[in-house]
Amino acid sequence: MRLAVLKERRADEARVAAVPETVKKLIALGLTVAVEAGAGLTAGFPDAAYAEAGAEVAPDAAAALAGAGIVLKVRAPLSAGEGEVDELALIPRGALLIATLGADKEAAGRYAAAGIDAAAMEMLPRITRAQSMDVLSSQANLAGYRAVVEAAGAFDRGFPMLMTAAGTIPAANVLVMGAGVAGLQAIATARRLGGRVSATDVRPAAKEEIKSLGASFVGYEDDESRAAQTAGGYAKPMSAEFLAKQGEVVAAAIGKMDIVVCTALVQGRRAPILVTEAMVASMKPGSVIVDIASDAGGNCAATKPGEMVVTPNGVKVLGFSNWPARIPAAASSLYARNLLTFLTTFWDKDASAPKLPAEDDLVRGVMLTRGGQVVHANFAAG
Ligand code: NAD
Repeated sequence: MRLAVLKERRADEARVAAVPETVKKLIALGLTVAVEAGAGLTAGFPDAAYAEAGAEVAPDAAAALAGAGIVLKVRAPLSAGEGEVDELALIPRGALLIATLGADKEAAGRYAAAGIDAAAMEMLPRITRAQSMDVLSSQANLAGYRAVVEAAGAFDRGFPMLMTAAGTIPAANVLVMGAGVAGLQAIATARRLGGRVSATDVRPAAKEEIKSLGASFVGYEDDESRAAQTAGGYAKPMSAEFLAKQGEVVAAAIGKMDIVVCTALVQGRRAPILVTEAMVASMKPGSVIVDIASDAGGNCAATKPGEMVVTPNGVKVLGFSNWPARIPAAASSLYARNLLTFLTTFWDKDASAPKLPAEDDLVRGVMLTRGGQVVHANFAAG
């Protein structure tokens, strides 16, 4: 069976869905691997490295996709009118497409109409068995790291307390908003750099996790926050009353902060605004806010998604989009391993092809379409 790896064509994308190391393992499964020329270049993996790993380097998307039974991508394929190549039209009918699709009902309908079996990896259930295939976690972890490194780069002082013969520079005060996968890595990274770190979250479990990393907890707790975690482990949307109380606690702390790292998300909704314009106005000139939640609208009212802005009081707000793509080699390596693990988990050695049992929790979680039908519970009905 032929597996195709396409170049990502979206403007802010620098990752690739397979790296030479995973290509070798895909070939060991019995697959023939075709990688579109230049696919790994922006992540630091040249065509020669794929060729050395045993892949065919195809001159363009059409050549890579011709006869493919499996297609690996980072983001959804471009469809007509979205770019110079209609990738969707080039994917052979019957192929299994594995990517982070960010699909809605309409997109799921397009995959079904194209006869593509579409697996949306971002919809994988967050259960223990799925950890090694969990693209949200692998990418959020790196985003959290990268956000702190970028904050350090944009900050006019340093993170650690620097005691020198010429005088002492105080440690930076860092506040992390949201202590999920990205936030916990942001805490750890800011601590490694020598910052004085505090963090806030709404889920009760997060408080202990924040403390276990040596950061202090800043937050408001009541009966609502004690029940703020869904069965899936995510935060519930909080009431306006709770957000106002939480805002009072944050407002009291934020004026002393040098760095604020925003990572708070609520599944399927716009990110909550946790840093208001008034809070930004209370911050010191030279402070830095990094907003990893920018792709979901951002946690900071001053965030301009995709951009860096400097507020009238001199606060830098980094609202770049697609944070994992800002550390593309590491993000591609982990993403590629997540996809490889998914394929090997559902690999039928005898048939030398994927076998995706419809009743399996992970399969049910990710498969949007099969055999020309929309099958995912979120999109199939109605
Ligand atoms: P996420 O990206 O959905 O959200 C990031 C964080 O923002 C979360 O900690 C959330 O509680 C927090 N948040 C939401 N609203 C907030 C508010 N108003 N104020 C402050 N913080 C707010 O979360 P995530 O990183 O994807 O993690 C979600 C959960 O999934 C966690 O419980 C995590 O431990 C769990 N998880 C489990 C697995 C696994 O077992 N396979 C893997 C990864 C994550």
